[in-house]
Amino acid sequence: MKKQQITLLVLLAFLVTQCNIVQSQESNIQVLKGATIHDGDGNSISNGIIIVKDDRIEAIGGPGIDVPPNGQVIDLSGKFITPGLVDAHVHFFQTAFFDSRPDAGDVRDTLSYIEVQAYQRNNPERYFEAYLRSGITAVYDVGGFNWSIDLQKTAENNLNAPHVAAAGALITPASEERISTFNTPNEKTMQHLASEEQGRKVVQENSLNGSTGIKIWSMRPDDPAFIKKIRAVADEVEKQDNKLIVHSTALDQAKLALELNAKLLVHSVQNVEVDQEFIDLMKSNGTVYTPTLIVGRGYYNTYRAILGEEFIMNDPNNTIDAKTRNMLENASLFQKFFNVGSLENSVARFESILDQREKLMAINLKKLYDAGALIAVGTDAGNPGTVHGISIYDEMEAMQRAGISAKDLIVMATKNGAVAMDRSNDFGTLATGKMADLIVLESDPAEDIKNMRSISHVMRGGLLRKASEPFEK
Ligand SMILES: [Zn+2]
Repeated sequence: MKKQQITLLVLLAFLVTQCNIVQSQESNIQVLKGATIHDGDGNSISNGIIIVKDDRIEAIGGPGIDVPPNGQVIDLSGKFITPGLVDAHVHFFQTAFFDSRPDAGDVRDTLSYIEVQAYQRNNPERYFEAYLRSGITAVYDVGGFNWSIDLQKTAENNLNAPHVAAAGALITPASEERISTFNTPNEKTMQHLASEEQGRKVVQENSLNGSTGIKIWSMRPDDPAFIKKIRAVADEVEKQDNKLIVHSTALDQAKLALELNAKLLVHSVQNVEVDQEFIDLMKSNGTVYTPTLIVGRGYYNTYRAILGEEFIMNDPNNTIDAKTRNMLENASLFQKFFNVGSLENSVARFESILDQREKLMAINLKKLYDAGALIAVGTDAGNPGTVHGISIYDEMEAMQRAGISAKDLIVMATKNGAVAMDRSNDFGTLATGKMADLIVLESDPAEDIKNMRSISHVMRGGLLRKASEPFEK
């Protein structure tokens, strides 16, 4: 080696060492000081301290805890901290408009479903940002194209994304004809359950791809042939060490789901009041219930926007991407795809159905809550009118109106969401060793869950950012 090269190497080594020194002096320790902390496990600490080292919580406690001298102190006096929120029911393949739900409003002549799906696949970043800047540091995609499974890996170490769990393609008793609008020529988001063998094969494939859950889109408890097939699916789910997620909106469907050991019910029971048998099964199975109270109203609001009403988006931090905002604000441009007279009639009918349904969903939620069942917050974001990110505030407020205390809602929106995602060891509560995923609020969410809207900062993996500032592109 030439003398010149050796000198260069020594110089480089010296620079590298210097960089290390600079880094350690600058400190990878942050001390969040002075806020009221709600830890996600039902406990609160006044004038609290959270010590964050790199991407983990090193310590948490009251003003008396040891604070390392080299930490960067961030004064949060008068503010509030909770764990990052978890939306336990989202769909990355859905846009919050009819272009991704042609079964509910066919606008394919203008917005081709195939092109929309190619875009969804290639551009999840806008939703990642909307989630994080709304305070949501983890989401559960409970059904979609199999590319959503890949998001689990790409999002995990990306500080511009929430943690993602994903189920991939759904299994359904619905006919091929009914589900054809959801699939593209190359890929399926829905798999018709044709036989026991085929059902097992889908479970095996999804599990091999790394899916976190196998979602069944609706149950047919009155159909013995279906029951035989779904039992095989449930059996295969156990064999693959995966877990069953079920869309069931009627009590007999939900009971069948629980009998098959479903671990997550992604909607409310909304046809009748739940009974003791159901409540007992929920509790003995440890099944998580996400009531999705607002998604129906989202459809209603989007239909009304088609008819010319304003679509209201309460988004002070400007988290909604331009494409989504544009579609919802200009929904009436798609009126030509609808028969206005019959849409007006069906919207009026839909409203009375919704009123009824929402009352029943609230009663059932309260019953499960009073009985101590496991409840998490899920929005069904991506469905028409349920925008990725901010919809979580509407959902939590609807749950509060159903009779859930704000204090318990914090636990449902954090810890219980992590339970639904099987990520309790990593996040969901603020405790030593957990990931440093948290949010800072101006007003106390334990007083009124509406105060979740007062979010000022989000920390994901130790990186603290203002909720109002768009991410650098
Ligand atoms: Zn859904």
